[in-house]
Amino acid sequence: MAGAAPLSSRALSRLEGDGDSVVGSFGGHPRGVRAHVWPRCAVCGAPMCHMAQFDAGPWLDLGPWARLTVFICHATGGRCEDWDPWKGANKVLLQRLRDDNLYDGPPTVRVYRRVRLGAGSPVDERDWVRTMGEQGVVGRAASERLRFDKLGGAPAWLHSDDTPRSKVNASPMRLILQMTTQIVAFDITRGGVAWVFIDPADPGEDAGRLVWQGG
Ligand SMILES: [Zn+2]
Repeated sequence: MAGAAPLSSRALSRLEGDGDSVVGSFGGHPRGVRAHVWPRCAVCGAPMCHMAQFDAGPWLDLGPWARLTVFICHATGGRCEDWDPWKGANKVLLQRLRDDNLYDGPPTVRVYRRVRLGAGSPVDERDWVRTMGEQGVVGRAASERLRFDKLGGAPAWLHSDDTPRSKVNASPMRLILQMTTQIVAFDITRGGVAWVFIDPADPGEDAGRLVWQGG
């Protein structure tokens, strides 16, 4: 999967002090999500839990979108198959306008503590990905090196490659966010990893997909 184009990622880290370098957050209450927009699980109907929110910027190319907010169903302990990118038990909410207001949301079964995040300098992952593709054991080690919270780059799969494909042209979607359980103990099993993809060929608000694998 290594190509000529740069495969750029930025590592995410917890911000402790005040500053203007916040690129997003894990947990807490999302900004600018009015009650009627708050997603409900398509399988069980319960309001989903908020996981993460990121704004577009030099650190994150979201195409026409200004903000990305990630939700997941935790109401049924996994019976809704919340790891599946197509079942509607998770949601990648894309918004064109950045609204920093807090609105009331529905009660959800889990609220993660809010952690503000900064992004590191861009890293080109091409060499690591090439190693993953060409060598067995070393490839696994390279994949482990890429397994941290980050924007962009290559997905460090725990198991098989589950990259969602575009409904428009069947091309693999582009990774925009990788979430582990290292910064926030997300309920995707200890050591689990979640990935958020966007379909560059889909201009609609349903262009974002989440998939996760258990550790
Ligand atoms: Zn559900």
